[in-house]
Amino acid sequence: MSVDVQLRAITGASEAEERFLKDSMLLLRTAVSGSGFGASVRNALYGYTGWSGLAETREMSGEEIWDRIVMGRECGSTGDHTLDLSVEIVDMEGIGETRLGTPPIRMARWFLDKCIESGDRVNMAALLMHQWMHVSGFVHSPHNIGHDAPSIVAMLVRRALETDFGEEIDAQITALLTLDTSSCGCHPRQRHHAA
Ligand SMILES: [Zn+2]
Repeated sequence: MSVDVQLRAITGASEAEERFLKDSMLLLRTAVSGSGFGASVRNALYGYTGWSGLAETREMSGEEIWDRIVMGRECGSTGDHTLDLSVEIVDMEGIGETRLGTPPIRMARWFLDKCIESGDRVNMAALLMHQWMHVSGFVHSPHNIGHDAPSIVAMLVRRALETDFGEEIDAQITALLTLDTSSCGCHPRQRHHAA
């Protein structure tokens, strides 16, 4: 079973930023449709796998996490085997600030431009994955920074691309993505709405 990625809309981006986002989306498609990706998601070691549904937040198994990804299930969607991405580029301090279960993915212009400067499409693909996980309903835990489902699956995207695109990866950008979830508002307590 294979999963596709589609960039449905981009707002707030210059032509160059838009081109880079499209290129990064293609890498994300390469990563998630790769033969070993499903197994890596199912078998990863997660510190926290909270998913906020309509009524409650519960933890999901690796199987369930992969099921949402391979089905392309955004919150409230039955699944079309496609990760649907809408991206809004915003001037803000943090890196990403997507509202739980709610497109568009919101990301900082400074971070996008930093990736463009470094030519690092791999980490941009990883960030798109991280933020899609929020659109799908997955949340962060303050106690498992770097080990919750959005962070781990983003790391798996980076790892999947390492062999072919490793030269692009900027270690400083990797560190920013790994260590900082503070700007991400997607915690169970602060959730907006999800279905
Ligand atoms: Zn996040």
